[in-house]
Amino acid sequence: MIIAANFKTNMTRLSTKEYVNELTKYLKESSDTNDIFIFPPATALDKFETPINIGAQNAYICNTGAFTGEIGLEQLNEFDIKTILIGHSERRHVLGESNEEIVKKFNFYKENNFKIIYCIGETLETREKGYDELIAYLDTQLEGIDLSYKNLIIAYEPVWAIGTGVVPKEEDILKTHSLLREKVKAPLLYGGSVKVNNSKEILALENVDGILVGGASLFVEHFSTMISHANK
Ligand code: PEP
Repeated sequence: MIIAANFKTNMTRLSTKEYVNELTKYLKESSDTNDIFIFPPATALDKFETPINIGAQNAYICNTGAFTGEIGLEQLNEFDIKTILIGHSERRHVLGESNEEIVKKFNFYKENNFKIIYCIGETLETREKGYDELIAYLDTQLEGIDLSYKNLIIAYEPVWAIGTGVVPKEEDILKTHSLLREKVKAPLLYGGSVKVNNSKEILALENVDGILVGGASLFVEHFSTMISHANK
């Protein structure tokens, strides 16, 4: 199973280091075999002695250049970062990243052999229109993405479930993941208000290959409990 933590704009360089050390200790002691990912803020990226995959929440389509406020490949290479989150709902809906920009980002990081966690998810308005509309919407977010890319992981994250405490019914996660499975062979993560009290049930669903966790991942005890739930 794949268990991923997105710290968003939380944690510092110091608290990330402490977190990674604590989680690494837990993984060793429990002989855990899941694939664990952590996406700290860019300022906390570093080379860690850990089996955890450390990834970037975002980066620009460049090696170096005049793109004030962005980071590129050179900054990621410094810390051997080879994983990136692309298309997260907050980048699409809060920061205004277009599908076109997202596809360019995907292609650039694919060319550079990155492991890509590619996020898709519908708004509540779309969800309320039923499954045909929902899948048609997700299709637009998959357009231009090489679904056969060997380092691709898809995270299905309904926009209305992210950071809200609202989670789709299990049967809805099951249905959406089974529809996605017809299109993609890549591992499928579910994300959106996953917490200690629902992770076990979500991880046990068919076609759920892991979870992407935001808020609840900030507590290392919670995140390690969710990892322990992954051993089906
Ligand atoms: C996320 O940031 O991808 C996410 C799913 O957030 P949360 O778990 O807080 O809903």
